[in-house]
Amino acid sequence: MKLRQCFGIFIVLAGLVAMNNRLLTAEQTMWKAGIAKTEITPTQPLWLAGYASRTHPAEGKLHSLWIKALVLESADGQQVVLVTSDLLGLPRDMSERICTELQKRYSLERARIMLTSSHTHCGPVLWEESSGAHLPDIYPLDEKQLSSIKAYSLALEKTIVATVAQALSDLKPVTVWRGQGSSAFAVNRRNNNQNQVAQLRACGETLKGPVDHSVPVLAVRNADGKIRAVIFGYACHGTTLDSYQWCGDYAGFAQINLESSYPDAVALFWQGCGADQNPLPRRSVALCQRYGAMLASAVEEVLHQPMKPLTPQLGTAFEQVDLEIGEVPTYTDLQAAASKGGYQEHWAKRLMKQLEENKTFDKSYPYPVQVWKLGAEQLWISLGSEVVVDYANIFKSKYGNSTWVTSYANSVMAYIPSHRVWEEGGYEAGAFEAYGLAAKRWAPDIEEKVTTSVDRLVGKLALDQLKPTN
Ligand SMILES: [Zn+2]
Repeated sequence: MKLRQCFGIFIVLAGLVAMNNRLLTAEQTMWKAGIAKTEITPTQPLWLAGYASRTHPAEGKLHSLWIKALVLESADGQQVVLVTSDLLGLPRDMSERICTELQKRYSLERARIMLTSSHTHCGPVLWEESSGAHLPDIYPLDEKQLSSIKAYSLALEKTIVATVAQALSDLKPVTVWRGQGSSAFAVNRRNNNQNQVAQLRACGETLKGPVDHSVPVLAVRNADGKIRAVIFGYACHGTTLDSYQWCGDYAGFAQINLESSYPDAVALFWQGCGADQNPLPRRSVALCQRYGAMLASAVEEVLHQPMKPLTPQLGTAFEQVDLEIGEVPTYTDLQAAASKGGYQEHWAKRLMKQLEENKTFDKSYPYPVQVWKLGAEQLWISLGSEVVVDYANIFKSKYGNSTWVTSYANSVMAYIPSHRVWEEGGYEAGAFEAYGLAAKRWAPDIEEKVTTSVDRLVGKLALDQLKPTN
């Protein structure tokens, strides 16, 4: 009897210790995860992406650039693949070729693949089949540069597929946990003068404009409770630096810091709706490292608190919604733009040539919208291109504050304004000249189109979960 009581107490204590150490419980053991990372730092002097003002290719690196892949598998064998990257963004054709290859080789449906980019402005320019380069008009690229960019980009496609393959072959039992912290270095760049931000902060003044300072965190733990991967997001442009050295900007430093704190783990960063957010003040390596340290410390704070375990189930939905272009430029508009010089002149002349060849401009863009549900409760929305922060706030007020909203996902081709930003105008209402699109503005229903699409996909997941599983 005494022995049995003693054994019972031992079982209870062992259970408590297991919970405390975040060891596996029966229900949570049914997740599996595979993780892989591959360095993608260019070994030749390619052009750096994101700014029209650069005049020559890269000169070495501040730190390495990476492709990272996480595969999560639910109890019923469904898989999702998250790819993160130290890149400005993936052009649509490249993203589609990667997804087609993953579908062909591993039967991964489109909805199960999320290809993201950190939007660092110190990564390589990528190749786009239709125009030669992604954002084709802002870089002064000669034939030699274009051919190097093409060779690098085609090799990168293969690297992304190979990294996913490596993650798929690495599946091991894990537990999966969610949490959320915050960090306040992102500033709404439409509402604040960047030269005044440091002074305003020093005086305790409130900065203006909507922001999303949340730091969503997903922790993947091994059977022994050790962290194997930490996935985190933040809504802020990767524009602390504008130098000539390869760098993942603040997100690159944040990942390095986390991988240094957790040497057995891989840290993966995704960009939120940071299209109208900048890290301010900026333009020094010290500030970039500081923002990286702030973000990593916000993530670690979450990892040290009790996190919520996710049950091993997945829901996925994807669609391309046609976003209508409200107004395309006329030949006269393009003549006026050509007189401005710089990238606007390149954009205008390229499009004038198309009109002279009797080509017509597209009336809409197939915009990627994706929704995942991890466990029973974690909603994860991912949107293509440069999405302004209003969307994160709209979806959080609709679906709850813990909703994750990734942007710069699947393909990047312009800015996606909310109705407010569309009405106000300015760079974040489109930036078509920088991206090379034949458009003057989006149609006024852009916000409605995007939010209706998300609502439809969220509704589809809710319905799918009611279906009996075999
Ligand atoms: Zn941007």
